[in-house]
Amino acid sequence: MPTENIRTYDVIVIGAGPVGENVADRTTAAGLSTVIVESELAGGECSYWACEPSKALLRPALLRADAMHVPGLDPAVKNPLDVEAVLAHRNRMSADWKDDGQVEWIKSAGIDLLRGHGRLDGVREVSVQTPDGDTVRLRARHAVAVCTGSRAALPDLPGMDTLRPWTSREATSAQRPPGRLAIVGAGVVGVEMATAWQALGSRVTLLAREDGLLPRMEPFAGELVTERLREAGADVRFDVSVVAARRLGDGDVRITLSDGDELTADEILFATGRAPRSEDIGLGTVGLTPGDWLPTDDSLTVTAVPGNWLYAVGDVNRRALFTHQGKYQARIAGAVIAARARGEELDTDRWAPHSSTADLEAVPGVVFTDPEVASVGLTAAQAERDGRAVDVVDYEIGHLAGAVQYRPDYRGRARVLIDRDRHVVVGATFVGPGVGELLYSATVAITGEVPVERLWHAVPAFPTISEVWLRLLETWRDS
Ligand SMILES: Cc1cc2nc3c(=O)[nH]c(=O)nc-3n(C[C@H](O)[C@H](O)[C@H](O)COP(=O)(O)OP(=O)(O)OC[C@H]3O[C@@H](n4cnc5c(N)ncnc54)[C@H](O)[C@@H]3O)c2cc1C
Repeated sequence: MPTENIRTYDVIVIGAGPVGENVADRTTAAGLSTVIVESELAGGECSYWACEPSKALLRPALLRADAMHVPGLDPAVKNPLDVEAVLAHRNRMSADWKDDGQVEWIKSAGIDLLRGHGRLDGVREVSVQTPDGDTVRLRARHAVAVCTGSRAALPDLPGMDTLRPWTSREATSAQRPPGRLAIVGAGVVGVEMATAWQALGSRVTLLAREDGLLPRMEPFAGELVTERLREAGADVRFDVSVVAARRLGDGDVRITLSDGDELTADEILFATGRAPRSEDIGLGTVGLTPGDWLPTDDSLTVTAVPGNWLYAVGDVNRRALFTHQGKYQARIAGAVIAARARGEELDTDRWAPHSSTADLEAVPGVVFTDPEVASVGLTAAQAERDGRAVDVVDYEIGHLAGAVQYRPDYRGRARVLIDRDRHVVVGATFVGPGVGELLYSATVAITGEVPVERLWHAVPAFPTISEVWLRLLETWRDS
């Protein structure tokens, strides 16, 4: 017979992804007793089916693409990738889908871990269904933080019931490359997985319903990535959507496209967006709608629920679906929960630790493709939509000595947006091999609101790709 007991903590965190772990770490460090509830693997999507495995698949592909064009190194990398070795490395980087290391860390941080499915059960209460069928009731003195993340959103198409499609989970954990892989979706997951599996030997067809890849970024990002993907042998198609897909008796997938074409593949990956993991977490017991995203204010408090006790942090609040941004929110939520537990007023000054302002103005993101795409802040289209007066400054990164040293066939472009009145950078996009590491400089320039006149004194070393900053400033001055 299932048994029932009640345990009281200062803070309950539902979901031990990177974000939940960081909330719990902060509240525990502030002296608040904290339990974290996890239904799958501690470490969350990022560790096992997202950031870690995807980057482990991509790193050899990108390094090889660079090395193929470096004189002296090119003969050494002419052979295809050693697929088995790459997948074994990916398995190790995903901890072989075991969470012992994370569990050890949780314990060492002084956090209690409760395995099971957590559901809100009214104000400051959570019920947890444990794997052995027990129900554990938890009560929080101060706060409940929902950190349940997101899952792949699948389209509702004829044939889906037979299809067994790949989502990002299969795309990051598959143990062999499919011969023919159709990828639906032109966003980050679609283009990264197209890059990885094409390099690992699959014949990739990438289907974009828009007229280019990476449609939310500066258009030149998608153009340069398309060029390289096609050079690598991928079939990249625009303005096309899937109208039906089914798995045939022989295991093949038959895909019908909006332009009337048919396509046969071994696997189909839907990289068509994310949905909140909130349909079965008891939202109805606190007056919210199951399956909704959980909007918050800048203190990560769910304002639709009175009493300032419910927080939503990370992907589930839809503010910025990145691990680093969720962890930033977690640091803030932890500080807010601790301050409220001490009865302090929140300091919501924008530089204070109680307000998640970077989600609004400076979210950095890197797309690990050939070439890499790194962006933070506004794009030109967003600035125009928001009516912001900006100067748009472009520079071809391939003109730099540092770029040619990096890879003689370097192709890439940088764009910064400079606020016309305040003379500060409000957006930056870099596209080119190795630009991911440039991004922090732009993030500091934006969040620090460094006047462009001061940026002249931040001297980039020769010959590095960072010299693009100098060229962008010169281009702006001369325009
Ligand atoms: C293919 C791919 C690649 C990505 N690459 C990057 C990258 O390179 N860099 C980057 O910054 N971001 C990347 N992301 C995004 C990143 O994975 C997410 O932003 C991040 O995982 C969000 O963390 P989270 O803790 O909010 O949610 P998750 O990581 O989704 O963790 C949520 C946790 O909650 C648990 N849970 C859910 N419901 C319950 C419940 N009811 N009870 C108990 N536990 C529950 C889940 O099992 C899970 O462990 C990528 C995403 C994808 C899909």
